[in-house]
Amino acid sequence: MQLEGGIPVEERLAKAQDRCKSADLPSKSMMVAQGGAFQFTFYCELCDSGCTTPSIAAEGVQEAFNQAQQEARRYFNRCHHCHRWVCDGHYNEDLMMCTACAPRTALCACQRCGAKNAPGARFCVICGARLG
Ligand SMILES: [Zn+2]
Ligand SMILES: [Zn+2]
Ligand SMILES: [Zn+2]
Repeated sequence: MQLEGGIPVEERLAKAQDRCKSADLPSKSMMVAQGGAFQFTFYCELCDSGCTTPSIAAEGVQEAFNQAQQEARRYFNRCHHCHRWVCDGHYNEDLMMCTACAPRTALCACQRCGAKNAPGARFCVICGARLG
């Protein structure tokens, strides 16, 4: 009797995890393979809240992972500053940054024009009014 594909499961998992790292997705991720189906869990890089994809039936790990990526993109956001992938709760959508880079509470709304300015900004980027 031959092993499926001839590669030990551990090795296949390691390879899949390598791909996870190189892929443009949360670095914290897990994969569960069962029968011909794969299930991936991705984690926010600022907390432990994770998103588990539905069980994906696919020919191989790569195909399953491609589908999992589509799923994960709906749940995670990429910080444009530090490039970490974070959950909605840790994402400041106004600045397109994670809350570690741009805490929501520190956002400074301009009194004159209402524009939202980066934390610590002294003058409004839109109208130049003094902030704070
Ligand atoms: Zn989070
Ligand atoms: Zn960030
Ligand atoms: Zn302003």
